[in-house]
Amino acid sequence: MQAIIVDHVGGPEVMQLAERPMPTPPGPGEVLVRNHFSGVNYIDTYFRSGLYPAQLPATLGNEASGIVSDIGPDVTEVQVGDHVAYLASQDAYAQYAKTKASRVAKLDTELPLDTAAAVLLQGLTAHTLVTRAHAVSPGDWVLVHAGAGGTGRLLIQLCRHFGATVITTVSSEEKAQIARAAGAHHTIIYTEESVPDAVHMIVPEGVHAVFDGVGKATFEGSLQSLRVEGSMVSFGNSSGAVPPVHLFELSQKNLKLLRPRLYGYLITDEDHRRHVSEVFRLLKEKVIDIHIFNSYDLADAARAHSDLEGRKTTGKLLLRLF
Ligand code: NDP
Repeated sequence: MQAIIVDHVGGPEVMQLAERPMPTPPGPGEVLVRNHFSGVNYIDTYFRSGLYPAQLPATLGNEASGIVSDIGPDVTEVQVGDHVAYLASQDAYAQYAKTKASRVAKLDTELPLDTAAAVLLQGLTAHTLVTRAHAVSPGDWVLVHAGAGGTGRLLIQLCRHFGATVITTVSSEEKAQIARAAGAHHTIIYTEESVPDAVHMIVPEGVHAVFDGVGKATFEGSLQSLRVEGSMVSFGNSSGAVPPVHLFELSQKNLKLLRPRLYGYLITDEDHRRHVSEVFRLLKEKVIDIHIFNSYDLADAARAHSDLEGRKTTGKLLLRLF
């Protein structure tokens, strides 16, 4: 099969397309999936660059959709031929991968394989953040950074659905239009304006919660944008890792600070099943929708990473595997 191989950390050029042996047959509780699409997520760039430690050589890729091609003993959840999507463990940039049967999401005919791969990881991230990190409720004011991005668009749609007024940041007017189309009430071009100044012009008390996946460049401004007892949800580092925080900074406004990781909200199969079925329901009811920026050939995975890190993209990037 064809797969991406990274044998040393670095820029996108370290991702090489290679012929690899097929995975071994699925064992008890496992399924083999013929992947059709793999979602490209910002986290993949961290494992490639070395920001997060990866076991090398690595394939990369944390989600995929495809067709079950083999099942191990005792598997009852799915059958050969079923369409599925699943969260992967650094092995989804490949034509085949094995995963746990208890963690695959079976797709019905309403959910195409490209949409399923596009919504899974970012949809679960956005859903767990707005229901568990800070439970968004009617009347909330929220600030969502990078609102035209994959996770940002979904956060805007979900915050609005749960009754919040949404302020979002983007780097260009073109991206502001995409964020407004997703439902943002106010947009700030954070490459040109001070975020806390702009936020306080819109809502003088500040926001109830900030969902910040940008990290280093926005962290301080996010704290300044919060109202008393606000929640700072720092969930990513697209501009670099957030430097160590002085706890005393939180005491000025009795702020809450969270640094959640998606997998920490999906520890049990029941948590996983519940959030996946909610995300799929919200998609079918058109509360959230998917904007696919591009589906790249597997051979162009490096270009997908450089487009994502170059801030050229909006919405979701996919790799096409067949
Ligand atoms: P996005 O589609 O949001 O792409 C990243 C965006 O970040 C860019 O488009 C850009 O938007 C913005 N950005 C701001 N500063 C920079 C910079 N210096 N370099 C590059 N981009 C920058 O990616 P994802 O939706 O995949 O991920 C968004 C964030 O969510 C990431 O930090 C990711 O790690 C995090 N995440 C965390 C999870 C968790 O479990 N904690 C799970 C999933 C995602 P603009 O041009 O508008 O500034």
